Amino acid sequence: MTSPNSTSSADEAALVLFSGGQDSASCLAWALDRFARVETIGFAYGQRHHVEMKARLKVREAVVTTFPDWAPRLGPDRVVDISGYGDLAESALTREAEIGFREDGLPTTFVPARNLVFLTVASALAMRRGINVLVGGMCQTDYSGYPDCRQDTLDAQAEAIALGLGRPMRIETPLMNLTKAETWAMAHDLGGDALVKIIVEQSHTCYRGTRGERHDWGYGCGDCPACELREKGWRDWQASQ
Ligand code: ZN
Repeated sequence: MTSPNSTSSADEAALVLFSGGQDSASCLAWALDRFARVETIGFAYGQRHHVEMKARLKVREAVVTTFPDWAPRLGPDRVVDISGYGDLAESALTREAEIGFREDGLPTTFVPARNLVFLTVASALAMRRGINVLVGGMCQTDYSGYPDCRQDTLDAQAEAIALGLGRPMRIETPLMNLTKAETWAMAHDLGGDALVKIIVEQSHTCYRGTRGERHDWGYGCGDCPACELREKGWRDWQASQ
């Protein structure tokens, strides 16, 4: 079952779904703080922007050089090409389309079943690597209206994966009940100003893939839904300190 705040044993290994964004960078730090061995997986699914593929490597490198206690725990990274799925599940993230809302109320950035696909593919790698824990940055608090970010979706999938693999597989979602401000605070608790700096400088969240302008909360266009959430979270966190 998924459990946002469950404890983890120090001899377990975890596989982090790692896109290079603020949320997954925070999840990577959360996992490195708890697990003896942490590996990362990313997905090439025809995203419009390859910026985040570069960001994920930069975040990993910066974490290794900045946190000597975490460095030995960080294992291999794997990028899985599922661009055929991206072709099927066209959205504003995978093709040139306006970022807004569809007639059914879902954001045009919604990629149908994305998290279900990611977790299923990740579970296959985890099983091969002897890993029993998947870590993902899904969040139902400030979430963007994606039904596959909800706790009940993930509970059902954790059960389906465990049944389908015939072995235990936990899905940890440390951000599930956090606001974006609380996600910044969590990163600060885990790695102080140094980790916040890595997330600001290296992680990438903007839907438009723009890194031209450096805001105090990081790089991005500043007016897509992802940038607006990130900026609001940053402002709220700053105001709460
Ligand atoms: Zn943006």
